[in-house]
Amino acid sequence: MTLKTLMAFVAASSVLVACATPVAPEPAAPEWHLAIHGGAGVILRENLSPEQEAAYVAGLTEAMEAGAAVLRAGGSAVDAVQAAVLPMEDNPIFNAGYGAVFAANGTHELDASIMDGRDRNAGSVAGVMRVRNPIIAARAVMDKSEHVMFAGAGADAFAEMHGLEMVENAYFDTERRRNDLERLLESRVGTPIASRRTAADRFGTVGAVAIDSQGNLAAATTTGGMTAKAPGRVGDAPLVGAATYAENGVCAVSATGHGEYFIRVGVAKTICDRVKFTGETIGQAARVALGEVAALGGDGGVIVIDGQGHVDFVFNSAGMYRGEISASGATTAIFGNE
Ligand code: ASP
Repeated sequence: MTLKTLMAFVAASSVLVACATPVAPEPAAPEWHLAIHGGAGVILRENLSPEQEAAYVAGLTEAMEAGAAVLRAGGSAVDAVQAAVLPMEDNPIFNAGYGAVFAANGTHELDASIMDGRDRNAGSVAGVMRVRNPIIAARAVMDKSEHVMFAGAGADAFAEMHGLEMVENAYFDTERRRNDLERLLESRVGTPIASRRTAADRFGTVGAVAIDSQGNLAAATTTGGMTAKAPGRVGDAPLVGAATYAENGVCAVSATGHGEYFIRVGVAKTICDRVKFTGETIGQAARVALGEVAALGGDGGVIVIDGQGHVDFVFNSAGMYRGEISASGATTAIFGNE
């Protein structure tokens, strides 16, 4: 075979190869999807008036729409989870930002965290008292500092230095939460606060998880903590790996519940690690993690999204304010059997 015929043969066979190679289907663009929670706890239909139920549905819907607007426009999952929890921080029916519960000394100490699944960058603040929106402070820690977590006065100072809106601590006061504090402090005087607190006094944190149209995951959680908590107490909400976690291709989690147990189990990271290393679905992994919480005596719930955009809600409390939204529509639910 001359060089010329050899080259012709090679060229012809590569055409054949090219023709024989099946054309790979275009990978489907990931679809955006966002889920939120507004706290878990003893939420029974008989204890919620139609007006209260409507207010929660409206609050959840407003939050979902704010996150969905970011995702519809091609924005990132991390911007979407921040946008979704922000209106809940400003809505007094939720225990985050304005309307947060009181600590035992009559002040508010707020916790928040956010995590970007693209690079597992994260930011959080614990025990802030003056920044109006703790989730924006957590985002600033992630984007504008070399650190992951700021606490107390230093966290507020960091927020102020970065131009965030600051308020007096009394801005967070609401009558409903003051009544909760007074009822709790006056009930069964002489017994430890922990045993006087009902499940209704513990919960109400808000959070969001999302996947964007690039397939990126993110999670955010923000709370006032537990009614009559000891000043200085930090819950799970600002702890990456406890209440908040996000890793692209694996899962994103936001949790709500009795924070001490969620910290001890490391709920959010446990769920994502089980998905990553054992191949469990997010639902299976979440049930294992919440089973560990329950075995220690705690309760609460999680919202989870996987790398393909499937969402699951898992809780071992009577109810959890929750919702999800995607291009195909939005739903909300409150009680356990919905
Ligand atoms: N996890 C929060 C905390 O312990 C409370 C909640 O979820 O409502 O601070």
